[in-house]
This record gives sequence, C-alpha cells and structure tokens, in this order.
Amino acid sequence: MDRFLDNGIQYVSGVGEVRAAVLAKEAGIRTMGDMLNYYPFRYVDRTKIYRMADVDDSLASAFVQLRGRVTGVFYAGEGRKRRYSVMVSDGSGQAELIWFHGIKWIEKRIEVGREYLIFGRPSFYRGEMSIVHPEVETVEKAFARKAESGMQGVYPSTEKLSSTFGTKGIYNIMCNLWPLVRDHITDPLPEPLRERCGLMPLREALYNIHFPQSAELLRQARYRLKFDELIGIQLNILSRRSERIGRNDGFLFAKVGEAFNTFYNQRLPFPLTGAQKRVIREIRTDTASGCQMNRLLQGDVGSGKTLVALMSMLLAVDNGFQACLIAPTEILARQHFATVSRYLEGMSVGVAVLTGASPAAERRAALEGIADGSVKILVGTHALLEDRVRFANLGFVVIDEQHRFGVEQRARMWTKNEQPPHILVMTATPIPRTLAMTLYGDLDVSVIDELPPGRRPIKTVRYTDAARLRLFGFMKSEIAKGRQVYVVYPLIEESENMDYKDLFDGYESISRDFPLPDYVTTVCHGRMKPADKEESMRQFKSGEAHILVATSVIEVGVDVPNATVMVIESAERFGLSQLHQLRGRVGRGGEQSYCILMSGEKLSREARARLDAMCSTSDGFELAELDLKLRGAGDINGTQQSGQAFDLKIANPTLDAQILQRAREEAEKILGADRQLQRPENAGLRELRSKYSGEKSMDFSMIS
Ligand code: ADP
Ligand code: MG
Repeated sequence: MDRFLDNGIQYVSGVGEVRAAVLAKEAGIRTMGDMLNYYPFRYVDRTKIYRMADVDDSLASAFVQLRGRVTGVFYAGEGRKRRYSVMVSDGSGQAELIWFHGIKWIEKRIEVGREYLIFGRPSFYRGEMSIVHPEVETVEKAFARKAESGMQGVYPSTEKLSSTFGTKGIYNIMCNLWPLVRDHITDPLPEPLRERCGLMPLREALYNIHFPQSAELLRQARYRLKFDELIGIQLNILSRRSERIGRNDGFLFAKVGEAFNTFYNQRLPFPLTGAQKRVIREIRTDTASGCQMNRLLQGDVGSGKTLVALMSMLLAVDNGFQACLIAPTEILARQHFATVSRYLEGMSVGVAVLTGASPAAERRAALEGIADGSVKILVGTHALLEDRVRFANLGFVVIDEQHRFGVEQRARMWTKNEQPPHILVMTATPIPRTLAMTLYGDLDVSVIDELPPGRRPIKTVRYTDAARLRLFGFMKSEIAKGRQVYVVYPLIEESENMDYKDLFDGYESISRDFPLPDYVTTVCHGRMKPADKEESMRQFKSGEAHILVATSVIEVGVDVPNATVMVIESAERFGLSQLHQLRGRVGRGGEQSYCILMSGEKLSREARARLDAMCSTSDGFELAELDLKLRGAGDINGTQQSGQAFDLKIANPTLDAQILQRAREEAEKILGADRQLQRPENAGLRELRSKYSGEKSMDFSMIS
C-alpha cells in the first residue's frame, strides 16, 4: 500500500509549519490525503463575464465576474474604519470596489485607467453596486493564464482560514498538491465492482472534484466519491451485524411468564391493535433467539408505542431481568412513570423513576432498588445513564426518542453491562428505511402502521390573528363540553427572551379572557423549576386546569386524552415534524379533536406550504417526505449529525439514498463472497471499511 498520502501537509509548497497548524486546527487537515479529501462545496464559473448594467439585486451575494477600467480611487474613514475605494466602469455601468484591510498591498496594484478582471460578491445600496474585497487581476494577466474548464472550486472556509489563506489560497494549495500526489492514488474499489456500477477511477474523480473538466465529469466524480463513503459505511454495518448475530451472546428470554400474562389477561384496558401484536411478537422472537436485539420501532404519534414498550419490559422481568425506559425529557419521563405505575398497580413488579431533577430521597431509593434488584423497571431521563447507576442485571433497554436521535446516549447504556442488553429504540419520526440503516447502524426495523380503533381524524385549520375572537369563542364552547385546550408557543432558542415574552403575553391575555373561577389556565415552560412544571402538568392532566399554555416542551409525548384542542401560535415558525408531533397531543380520546394553526398574514412560500400540508393530511410519512422536499438539504433531524459521526465529506444519506441503496447491495454481494474481506483484491475495501468505521459514532461502539 502506498502511504505517500500520509505525509504532512506542511511539505506542500505554499503551506509550511505555521499554515499547516491553521489547517489542522480549522479544518482537521493534517496530511496530504486529508487535503485531497477536502472538497469544494461549490464552483464558480470563471468563463462568464457580466456586463455591469446586467448585475442587479438578484445577483447580490452570488459571485460574479466583471471587467472594468479604473476611473478613480479614493480613501475614506479613519483608523480602523479606514477604507480604500476604487471606482470601475465598463461603459454599461459602474461599481465601487472597497478594501478595509490589505490596503497597502492592493493600492500598489491598482492603476487608474487600466483594465481589470474583477471577481467578487456585489451588494447594493440605493441601487449603487459595491464589492468588498474582490479579487482583481489585470486583463492581460488573466488572459495569459491558461483557461482550464472555467469552473473553479470554492472551498469551505472559516474566518481564520480566509484570513490566513485568502479567497484563492486553498485552491492554490490544491494546485500545488496535485502534481505531488497524482501518482500515489490507489483505487480501493476492485475493477469488476467499478465496472458493474459504472464508477470513474478514483484518481480521475479526485482530479475532477478539484478541477472539473466539465459539468458531466464533475457529476461522475461526485457520484464516485459518495459511493466510496457509503459503501465504506455499509461494509461496516453489515460486518458488525453479522458479527453480533454470530456472537450469540444476547440474554435469553426463554419464556413468557406471570407478569406478562397477568398484565395481558387482567390489566390490558383494550385489545391490542394488530400492529402492536405483530411488533410484540417480533420482539419476542428476537429476545428468544440468543442474539442481542437491536430494534427500531417506528410508529406515528398516538399509535401506542408505550404499551409495546411496557409489555416488552414485562417479558424481561419474567425472565429475571431488569428493564429501563429512557425518555427525552423530564416531563415525559414522569409521565411514563405514572403510566407504567398505573398499569402495574397491585402487581408485584417494582417500578422506580430517576431523572436529573429527582430529589435526594427519590434518587436514593431508586439507586438502591436498582442495585439490589428490587426495582425491576426503571423509568427516567438520560440521567439514568450516569455512571453512578448500577443495575443488578439489566436485560432490556427502551429508548423513547420521539423524534430526537440520541445516538450517544444509547451507547452509554451499553457500557453498563458486560453482556449487551436488548435495545428497543422508539421513534415517532417516519424515517425512510435506507436512512434508518445509516442513522441507526444495524438496527432491525419494526413499524406500527395502524392507529388504535375509534380515533377520529383531527380537524386542522389555519387562522390569522384577525380570527382570535372566534378562536376564543370556540375554545370556550369546547371547554363547556368538558374538554381541555393546549396553547403552544414556539421556542426556537431556549434562551431567547423574545420567545418568552410571546408566551407570557399570551398567558396573560388568555388569563384575562378566560377568567377564574370559571376557567383555570396553567402554564408550563422550560424556565420553570421541575417541581412547578410537574404541578402544572398535574393540574392539566387531572382536569383541574382547562387550558395549558406551554412552549414546545410539551411536544414530546404528553398524553391527556380529554384534551381536544391544540392551538399552535406562530405556527409558521415550527417545522413540519414538530407541528405533526404537537398535533398528535390531541385526538387521543374518542372525541372529535381540532388543531388550530395561528399565523401572521404574510408567510413565506415555504411556511405556507407547510401549513397547507398540515391542513390537508395527517399522515406522518407523507409529511416527513414533504418536509424533506421543502427543506431540500438533508437536514432532517439527526442526519447532519450522523454525517459527522461517520466523517462523511460529500455523501448525504438522505439525499443520496439511491447511491446508498446501491452501495448496500454491492456491500452485501462482496461480503457474501468474502466475509472478512481477506482476498487480495478486496484489500482496498478493507481500508475503506476502517476509514468509515464511524468510530466517532457511539452507535457502533454500542454494538461492537
Ligand atoms: P405513542 O407513544 O405511540 O405516541 P401512546 O403509547 O402514548 O402513543 O398511546 C396513545 C394513546 O392510545 C394512549 O392514551 C394509549 O392508552 C392509547 N392506546 C394505546 N394502545 C391502544 C389500543 N390498542 N387501543 C386503544 N387505545 C390504545
Ligand atoms: Mg409516546
């Protein structure tokens, strides 16, 4: 194997020790290979030259190239505000080029009357164009340079990187690097695989990603580089999966016993849905197989996942193991604890709760019970992942993520036992299967695709502020029928005072319009003490309070079947999945429920599309797909993170689902023939597998 690419980046001309340190610190680039894998995030077309008259607001902040003659220069400002301005004109229009630093350097290079090629991002003030810190080059010099494809890479940068290297610095280093490394690039993919998938050789791909020779070659290069990353991940996942299954060291839940049966026969308040039964059967099969279970349970809000979790935990208890249920928030943990305790009342199954806010006595009781084994089911937040918590024999872990992805937390659970507990991750976010595979490693996927019977579809409408009186009237009529109402305010940043002001103003106005003693309004938000939050939730759950004014802290999992109205204030500020989650808080009883989306008159196109979608469908999968489309970029919850966990430079598991699928198939084929990747022709694939091992991803440390 050629190790040339492991040479330090400082040896490339134009870098050196000092700048190498900046590259390492700012971009994690230490070796020539790292640099080669530092890809442009977009390209600018250096062949097109705009007429100044054609550049207007629509091009503001895009990069444009102009050609113009210097008509005059002047200096303005004092001290740090000092600037150097150069007026240029091309006959059709004019622009002001402005420098705040490096004035000494640039002023020597500018000559009045001379013609320059100018490259930069225009901005406009009162119709006048200016460009701050453009690149300029005399026309003679620019045209003397050999014109390549015209597409020049723009590399991701930080403030420190740009001040060290300037706009073209990284590009220039890449130009110096290429001749050094070009003959040391070995292709990790075996020829037949490349042929089968129509992939460009690696060297060509790297050349074209940095110096595209055409748009088509660039497309092929991107495809090839994405493929490498994704097949690297798939090789990992599949290898580890077969290892896990082969290890055969899962806790054996051989029987269904008293706790499960008593619950099923005597406690279950309603028949299970077909989907719930199916999933319980799947879990039962997994846990009786001798292998460790790693299962993802997807089910829309209100589909009854909690019950599945509870029954699986009883299965563990019946087999002499402890189980725990981890919730994403304090409120939800408390609620799960209440639900589980209520369901198991009178049965001899010890249940305890432990959260970050647990009072000392509760904490002590829980910790003791867990250690001596008298607590069979522990419910809590991630606080129970703290090292102090020692289980007697933890056999089953349920993680209720709703729509967060706590990859790291799952991993910690794992380290508590020598032998891995079975793991069930529950999520209300519908995730495409391929994406679930990368996000969740090698999890098997179960889906609850059926809601409990008797649910009436929630009516969703959109109101503007003008309809507030009508809204209040409607709330009153529902409350008169004995129902309860949620009013939710967006809280984008926990620390944003503005958001709290909206919430407090809203609370005040509702308290005024819904006066005591006929109406009781309570409030719940993240700045309250846990005890106050709990009291407020208790009031609402017990029915003492008619209206709950809250931030989106309630979006996850709160269950009050008597609540029939969900009012979402400034609904345009919420994402689709959040809106869907919030709406899922109502419609849990047999009554007709309503979701009212309050918004301003003026909405962006995207916000309007979101609200319209909410009004026209209640299907979580449909909304998730639309969400993906609207947002375009692959920033569905967690995927960004997963990309970082795997150290992906170019592939995006969401957007590149097709490449991912193909990579998965090929990885299966290859491992089918050479499980350990020991054949000489697979040496490169073995390297790829370790390169994208996702070592930063705790997900994998969990199962390896
Ligand atoms: P999820 O966590 O999937 O959003 P929950 O477990 O909170 O949903 O269940 C939502 C509501 O449906 C709860 O009030 C629960 O008691 C009820 N429920 C669950 N399963 C059934 C069922 N099979 N039949 C009727 N109601 C059910
Ligand atoms: Mg739930």
